[in-house]
Amino acid sequence: MKDYYKLLGVGRDAGQEDIKKAFRQLALKYHPDRNQGNKESEEKFKEINEAYTCLGDSEKRAHYDRYGTSEGMGAGAGFGAGAGFGGFTDVFEDIFEDFFGSFGGYKKAKSTKGADLRYNLTITLEEAAFGVERSIKIPRWQTCDTCGGSGAEPGTSPVTCANCKGTGHIRFQQGFFSVSKTCGKCQGSGSIITSPCKGCKGNGKVRVQREISVKIPAGVDTGSRLRMSGEGDFGSYGGPPGDLYIVLNVDEHSFFKRDGMDIYCQFPISFTKAVFGGEIDVPTLNGPAKLKIPAGTQSGKSFHLKGKGIPRLGSHQRGDQIVSIYIDVPKKLTPRQKELLEEFAGISEENNDEASKGFKNKLKDLFSA
Ligand SMILES: [Zn+2]
Ligand SMILES: [Zn+2]
Repeated sequence: MKDYYKLLGVGRDAGQEDIKKAFRQLALKYHPDRNQGNKESEEKFKEINEAYTCLGDSEKRAHYDRYGTSEGMGAGAGFGAGAGFGGFTDVFEDIFEDFFGSFGGYKKAKSTKGADLRYNLTITLEEAAFGVERSIKIPRWQTCDTCGGSGAEPGTSPVTCANCKGTGHIRFQQGFFSVSKTCGKCQGSGSIITSPCKGCKGNGKVRVQREISVKIPAGVDTGSRLRMSGEGDFGSYGGPPGDLYIVLNVDEHSFFKRDGMDIYCQFPISFTKAVFGGEIDVPTLNGPAKLKIPAGTQSGKSFHLKGKGIPRLGSHQRGDQIVSIYIDVPKKLTPRQKELLEEFAGISEENNDEASKGFKNKLKDLFSA
């Protein structure tokens, strides 16, 4: 025979409360939900249930103490037989309410958190760089003001559901477990509305368009998520509201390309500016900025404008703007420009500068190899 006291780890003189406590602790430890697929735990769980079914009931306990068994007590006694589950399921409800919360929908008209909502918001690169406050319209479910969420016309009250006798759930036996499921007639609320509220058609909630202001911090990027606590749908039966998630998309910019905190752009300069050097005005996110071009700048050369990029989220640190120079070759020339350039070309043929000589030699090596 099994020693039920040993199984629960209590002494023979343990009080009912101690037995209950010991069982709860063990049931939590070995519960199948927490030990999925573990045969040993399952066996252990069955054993402690068996022990508690007996010791948790003072009559059965007395019988067990006397005869060393809980069997032979007539109908309903012993493990697994309908009525014998009484004490077992009661302590289980306690456990589930304490530790598993939503398990199996035991609680009547359980208050639930409202749904989280998602809103996709597209902003410009400038807004992403400096932050912006935007007003958005969000549809969400809110508690009906007319009936205060009960769903019943003011002055009337819901009647107790006859199907579940107001408990909100129906209990039935499924093999080893006593299982509870939500009552289909009242959807677990335990009551039925006979005169539905006209404001919400008995739903207890209404769909409203809300305008809310969103502060977008500097430094966000495509895919950044802002969580607005409590701005989601209202919960049911007084449950807390869900959250609103703003998912950002930063629009392509016509001039800048972004890579993390840095931004890139291409900027044309004239042939003469490339030759003689000079100063140019380059657009930045903060407006035009001066950039010095040294004499003899080649096409494709990049210059860094320090701190003109995107700030790091939540910091004052900023990335750079990288300006890539290209030479704008004129397509139309005046006769005078043409004359001067032809003259320039003539002289250039005669005295090739050092750079192009070196380049020509390199080509020679390449083709003769
Ligand atoms: Zn209403
Ligand atoms: Zn019901």
